[in-house]
Amino acid sequence: MAWFKKARKPIAAPEKTSRVPEGLWVKCPECDTIIYTKDLVKNLHVCHKCAHHFRLNATERLKTLFDGETWEELAPNLVSNDPLQFTDTKPYKARLAASKASVGQNDAVIVGVGRINGVDAVVAAMEYSFIGGSMGVVVGEKMVRGIELALARRIPMVIVSCSGGARMMEGALSLMQMAKISAALARLDRARLPYVSILTDPTTGGVTASFAMLGDLNIAEPKALIGFAGPRIIEQTIRQKLPDGFQRSEFLVEHGMLDLVVDRREMKATLGRMLAFMSAKPSGPQASKPSGPQASKPSGPQAPKPSGM
Ligand SMILES: [Zn+2]
Repeated sequence: MAWFKKARKPIAAPEKTSRVPEGLWVKCPECDTIIYTKDLVKNLHVCHKCAHHFRLNATERLKTLFDGETWEELAPNLVSNDPLQFTDTKPYKARLAASKASVGQNDAVIVGVGRINGVDAVVAAMEYSFIGGSMGVVVGEKMVRGIELALARRIPMVIVSCSGGARMMEGALSLMQMAKISAALARLDRARLPYVSILTDPTTGGVTASFAMLGDLNIAEPKALIGFAGPRIIEQTIRQKLPDGFQRSEFLVEHGMLDLVVDRREMKATLGRMLAFMSAKPSGPQASKPSGPQASKPSGPQAPKPSGM
């Protein structure tokens, strides 16, 4: 039937002799600028022209936050034991092994303790390239250990979310991590220790529905996708067209879901300032002074305010 058929094999393409090594240049998906990779790394993976934020892996993230790019890692060897013996298109065990080999980590989070602009803190950074940064039992356990360390040392906790949500291959066990991490954060709250949540592109599903939104401060990177269900599902459910920029950081700040949007290049300085402010201990005399005279004064809108308030 084939009236047009190549009788001979096509001439083999010559070996690529490009002198440009792979990955030396990156094209910005927003503005199409060609960026020299080294410049991109220097600029914390932010496009110098349009400020597009490229996705960071967990190690790079911790490097952007910790002083001297050093930290002490917590429980790096925890691994999932595939509690459900789960198989979808391929066995979960094989998926885990493939991710471990390609990412070089045992699960989707790195928890480290170090200093941010001189303030001791525990930071948990999620790794999107490990099965979509999904939250399974290992992510839950590592985060809780991080929070417990923050409690023991009385230092702040920071979680950088970058996740598609719960890990389906661990079924209900992965959903339980939402409660487990939230309960640990509640203990942190009762101990009056700060917790800052940093939401990066993307933060969705069970992660948004639990710890990512529980911060004393919820900060997002610009234009990050943050939501529970995706826009298509919502559109189908409510049968309405969604507004522009729906589920993006700036939209969520406008609607009171987040506290602020911070450029990655200013994230460390901002975070350092916040942590220093929130973990400052009130000194003795200053803390007890205002309560005395205030209590005896008649309180009302006309009451003169004490100076310095
Ligand atoms: Zn750009």
